[in-house]
Amino acid sequence: MNFDRIAVLDWSAAGTPRQGADSIWLGLASGDQVTTMNLPTRHGAEAHLTDLIEQTLTARKRLLIGVDFAFGYPAGFARHLTGAPQALAVWDWLEAQIEDAPDNRNNHKAVAATINRMWDGDGPFWGNGEKRDYPGLGRHKATLPDGLSEQRATDALASSPLAKPKSVWQLSGAGVVGAQSLTGLPMLARLRRSFGDALGVWPFQPCESTPIVLAEVYPSMLAAEVRAAMARDPDAIRDAVQVRLLATALARLSETGGLAPMLTPDAPAETVQQEGWILGAGHATALRAALPATQVPPRLRDDCFAMPQGVDWVPVDTALDRLRAALHPVTGEETLATAQASGRILAQDCRAVRSNPPSPNSAVDGYGFAHAATSSGPQRLPLLQGRAAAGQPFEGNVPPGAAIRILTGAILPPGVDTVVLEEDTATDGAAVVFDGPVKPRANTRRAGEDMQAGDAVLPAGHALRAPDVALLTALGIGRVTVQRPLRVGVISTGDELLPDPAQPAKPHQIYDANRPMLLSMAARWGYEPVDLGHVRDDPDRIAARLNKGAGTADVILTSGGASAGDEDHVSNLLRTQGTLSSWRIALKPGRPLALAMWQGVPVFGLPGNPVAAFVCALIFARPALSLMAGGGWRAPQGFTVPAAFNKSKKPGRREYLRARLDADGRAEVFASEGSGRISGLSWATGLVELPDQALTVAPGDPVRYLPYSDFGL
Ligand code: AMP
Ligand code: MG
Repeated sequence: MNFDRIAVLDWSAAGTPRQGADSIWLGLASGDQVTTMNLPTRHGAEAHLTDLIEQTLTARKRLLIGVDFAFGYPAGFARHLTGAPQALAVWDWLEAQIEDAPDNRNNHKAVAATINRMWDGDGPFWGNGEKRDYPGLGRHKATLPDGLSEQRATDALASSPLAKPKSVWQLSGAGVVGAQSLTGLPMLARLRRSFGDALGVWPFQPCESTPIVLAEVYPSMLAAEVRAAMARDPDAIRDAVQVRLLATALARLSETGGLAPMLTPDAPAETVQQEGWILGAGHATALRAALPATQVPPRLRDDCFAMPQGVDWVPVDTALDRLRAALHPVTGEETLATAQASGRILAQDCRAVRSNPPSPNSAVDGYGFAHAATSSGPQRLPLLQGRAAAGQPFEGNVPPGAAIRILTGAILPPGVDTVVLEEDTATDGAAVVFDGPVKPRANTRRAGEDMQAGDAVLPAGHALRAPDVALLTALGIGRVTVQRPLRVGVISTGDELLPDPAQPAKPHQIYDANRPMLLSMAARWGYEPVDLGHVRDDPDRIAARLNKGAGTADVILTSGGASAGDEDHVSNLLRTQGTLSSWRIALKPGRPLALAMWQGVPVFGLPGNPVAAFVCALIFARPALSLMAGGGWRAPQGFTVPAAFNKSKKPGRREYLRARLDADGRAEVFASEGSGRISGLSWATGLVELPDQALTVAPGDPVRYLPYSDFGL
């Protein structure tokens, strides 16, 4: 089926005229154009749809109207209400009962109450957010009448972890659909009568040649895409985004013939006639894949790092939560050959193209035969000429009672279901002898026993490692859509810094240790390091360098000058020209972390002390960069080990000590806590994390150890 136009209708059961969120929206895709329209009343929407259908018929085009409420009710309802087991009979019944005024005042709750009274005991409908009571319509969920289900067969197939269709019986509450169906079906029934044979309702009627087709849709099948679009444009109205995206996806599918596989509901015809079916249910992957990949990643908001006024020392966990909420992926996607994608982050879920193993085969070198023709005790099976080897299948059949030489990895020839290990046999070349009984299917691998074609393999956000590349390749996934590498710019600031350690230094100079450290961390994390050099403590020069960074990097790490003093030029500059939030974090070593947006690019102003810069980069920058790179927030897992040291700490801030495990697996810490002691960073193999509260540690006490490897180093 293909259509010239796709309309997607987001209905509303509002009792007064309404615009904006939770009102009626119509998305219309035609050619490459997609428009959305907001309709404040149901009368207005019906008139608009009528016009659209008339125009389409005059222009001799085809129009699919996707409608976001249930076309039918769970099996059993239609017959009880109308005597006929058909959803369309319910449409006509409701059309006769529902009164809906031009100002949206309507009687759907009274009608639901009437329907409920047609059952002994509670009827199926429930939910009433109004003050007035409707006798027969409860405010809370009641037991369903015998034989009626909560949901329809199609609902399960349209569900995803992000969204699940609500029960049609529920009439009030967030995201409900029950009232939409009661107010919407009469409108659809009228359209049917107005347009006769020119309009078909899928899946109740054959629609191959009708110019106008109505079909139920569930826009939340695109919940992930809607979410991403909302992140790009936080001021957009969700309903508008939903109808636009779904109309776009359906239009693409219509163009490419992709709608055809969706037109056969995966349920018995009687069920479908009563309950209806959601177009696309069970085909979420195809539906989602029909949307063009987002090439333009969303921008971060300028105020994303804002701290509420009056906040002083922020606990580490609060700071991490805020950072996590402020950021989102920014990199965009590209498609690569799987073999080239190690270290990259998947931008889309991967599904197996082929099963592993693709065919049943032998797990050992030995002899293959049909198990049914063997028994216990000594077995002697005549050997066929030839053999089955990996890559060299045996062409013939193996009759019951005969055996064939078979090698590891060879496809089981027809007739073979069991293999006996070569070491357990004797042979004279004409026959093979072994002791029975042998277990059926012994020493064989089933087709797809590892993974089957179509299985979900790895999710979006997963960073590919060598074993993943092996898995994807084995499953026939030759290309993967991955995130573009995050470009991480690094700048060092300070008049005392000398960039090149091969140059002789004057007494007042020190070598710039932070920049190579941070660049090497970025590279190690799989990002693209962008060396933005060293810059003197001069606001204009720092600004110029940040400008350069904003054009060439997705995120900038600076070190030095991040506190609030006279010489703290980075924070002074960001405060006056960027959008700085100086986060005073209750953390040792570290403390001030300057977070700001500079021309749309986040800047992490790390402390100058190499130890503090390193710890802040591990604790704050690493999870944040991972989130921005599309790999999700990554917290180190760590583990508990006995301490090999004494320490007493005050309450009020978290501490990270440079540590390594001794021969007994106990954490020893570096002798000096001085934050200029770079040797301790290099001596250590991880950090010991001491909690925010006061604590006295004695040797043997449990402490949390976070190895560098947990931070991806
Ligand atoms: P600041 O945060 O600029 O006040 O610097 C704090 C301390 O860290 C000072 O002793 C600086 O000399 C030192 N420092 C700053 N940047 C670096 C760097 N890139 N490499 C080594 N030490 C640095
Ligand atoms: Mg400085």
